[in-house]
Formats: sequence, C-alpha cells, structure tokens
Amino acid sequence: MLGGENLDTNCALASTFEPAILIDARGLAPNSIKAVKSVKFSYTPTPMTRELLEAFRDMVNDAIRICLDEGIKGRLKLRDRIYKEFRLRYRVVSCFPFSVAEVAWSIVKKHRRWHRKPFAKRLMMKMDAQNYALNYSILSLPFRKGERVFIPLRFGDYQRSFLMDPTLKRGSVTMTDNCIFIAFSKEIPTIKSESRVGIDLNEKSAVLSDGTRFNLSEVARLHTEYGVRRSDFHGRHSNDRRLRQKFASSRREKERVKQVLNVVSKQIVEKAVKNREAIILEKLKGIRKSSMRGNQMGRATRRRANLWPFRQLQQQIAYKASWAGVPVEFVPATMTSRTCSRCGSINRKLKIKEREWRCPCGAILDRDLNAAINIERRGKIPCLGEVRPGAQGTDEAVKGNPTTPVILRAEALKLARREHVQPS
Ligand SMILES: [Zn+2]
Repeated sequence: MLGGENLDTNCALASTFEPAILIDARGLAPNSIKAVKSVKFSYTPTPMTRELLEAFRDMVNDAIRICLDEGIKGRLKLRDRIYKEFRLRYRVVSCFPFSVAEVAWSIVKKHRRWHRKPFAKRLMMKMDAQNYALNYSILSLPFRKGERVFIPLRFGDYQRSFLMDPTLKRGSVTMTDNCIFIAFSKEIPTIKSESRVGIDLNEKSAVLSDGTRFNLSEVARLHTEYGVRRSDFHGRHSNDRRLRQKFASSRREKERVKQVLNVVSKQIVEKAVKNREAIILEKLKGIRKSSMRGNQMGRATRRRANLWPFRQLQQQIAYKASWAGVPVEFVPATMTSRTCSRCGSINRKLKIKEREWRCPCGAILDRDLNAAINIERRGKIPCLGEVRPGAQGTDEAVKGNPTTPVILRAEALKLARREHVQPS
C-alpha cells in the first residue's frame, strides 16, 4: 500500500491548502515561491498514541465550549484564555494550548453556518514544527511534563525521498488514529513562463486553451456507479446497520476518484513544465450553488455535478504546479462559458446542453475550449510570449486598459489580506 504517488494527497489538510497566487503588488511574478506538500505516513496505533489523541480531542472540545460560552472571538484570545488553565487541568506541556486553540478555533469558525453545536468528533491532533522532533523515521511528540510519545513511521520509497531530502523544511505534523501527515516545504524558483494556458473543468473533461483535452468521464462514471449502488442498497436493506456501513461507504469511491484526478493533474503539470506554461484556473466559489435545483439540469446530473470534485482537481493541479515551480493564477469565473472568445460578446441564453459555441461574429468552436480561452485571457501572470493572436473585444479592452496595474495592485492587496486572515 505504501510508496505510491496516490499517497501524496493531503486529505486531512486539503481544507487548509491555500495555493500561491503569483502576482505581487507591482503586478509581477516573484522569483521564487514557497511550495508545501504534505506527505502521508502510516503508523501502528498504541495505547499511548490513543491516549494522546483522546486527550487532545478532550482539550479541543473543552476549548470550543469555553469559546462559545464566553463569546471569545479569535484564535489568539482563545489561546490566552486557556493557556494556564489547560496546563494545570490536563498537565500537558506548554505547546498544547497553542495547537488546541488553533484547531478549536478553526472548528468554531467553520461551524458558524451550521445549526448544531460544534464539537470535535474525529481523533486528530496537530503540532507545529518547532514542537516535535523527527529522527529519521521516529517521530517524537511531547505530551505531559517529562513524557514524550515515540512513533515509528512506516513509509515507502515515495515518503523516503522526502525524509532524505536535506533541502526540504519540515512543517506541522497532523496525526489521526491511523495515519500521520507531515508538511514539507521548499523555496523554489518560479519558471519564467513563455505562455499562459487556461483550464476549463467540466463534468466530462479538463479542456486546455491550447486544445488539449483530458478525459474525466471516469470520474462521472464512478459517481454514477457508486451512487446507483448506494441507492439500490438503501432501498432494500435500509434497516441492517452492519450491511449499511459495509456498502454505503463512499471511501472506495473517493479513493478511486482521487487516483483518476492524480493522473490528470500530473499530466497537466508535466506538460506545463515542459512547455514553460503558466496555469490559469477559475475561482470556483459558486460551483455548488449553480448546480442546485432550478437550473436546467435533471436530478441525476445535478447529483453528479454537486459531487464532482472540481476543487480537489484544482488543488491537486495547484500544489503539484507550485512544487514544480509552475506559476498558477486563479481568475474570476464570471461568464467564462458565455462570452465569445473571439469577439467578446455575451450570450446569456446559452443552454447547458449546447456543446458548441456559435456566435454571430462567425466563431464556431467547442464550448469548453471557448471557456478555456476566456480563462486564459483573464490571466495576468507575465509571460515572455504574447497572448493568443486574433483576439478582439474583451481582450483588447483588457490589454489596452491603462488602469490595469491599479486593479492588479488592489487585487494583490486583497489577496494578501485574505492570506493573512486565514491561518491554516
Ligand atoms: Zn463572437
């Protein structure tokens, strides 16, 4: 099981991943970026690791309760509030209140939109780089005063390459009841791009603005297959709890989808390295909303569209790209599929099932390719080569607009601020 490329995905940390946006305040790409990869190791749980995880979870739930009862706003305020009390009550060393406050605050923040009371259910603990030690493959975690927990990590060739690489810096460690993620980071010079390539992601494929197409119908197929299996099953055996758990689990589905996405993201990034391309992706904020009831999709399509892991694929592309020094930029997604990539006119009436873009200006091209070209055009990462020729309309407007640098600066500031506010 160990040693495969599919182990490098950061499921536990996915939500904390913030891809680097490669434009600074002057609208320039920096010379180097910090790339982070979290690597999964397995380990054999012992009574001691269990005790550590359970103590951590108790502390997190205690902290969440205090946070809500006393209306504490902010991770640092929470930390100051629990620091003395927790060290006495749980007899843990001083680094615990820090990471407990961090985890508790992230749960409180995430649950604000929910209705039930937030609590930490899963066994999970997090520890910053300066508080644990790693002696080749023996992880040493602090616990109570004078007490450390030693955990031999199990790993394959893939993980070994990270352990042995002296150029990598170690970041935080995240532990669950069956695996351990260690974040590794490096400073990598950015590749000077010769061109930009926009990527349109849809249910069946990833389409690049240069016409390259990656087939993703396997992902949709897996969702349908497992979805049907699940609903079949619920109809017939919905009362048998043991069977329900066995068949209704979506873990296998997720695992297989992840593998497909891994292959595609790897190919996209390898191509970008080879051709010195900068990758332009859409900001996918409203994707789930847009596939809700009321638009033109049927129930089955809507289910697949909701499940379709756009975000997961984007994250895989973004972190593989930054690990390889390929610049990545996220651009606004408004109307990318409804704007003509040739003349810039907008067709608001375009239906989901229309697969071809036809415009009164004479443009006839594939719908997804049209969107991918629009995405590419919105990219601002500086390139040695110029943007695709033959562009008019919106493209001219963007290129000839003297206020562009101002917009860039405002956006960069906004981005910087957002990065600041979101602690991982
Ligand atoms: Zn047109």
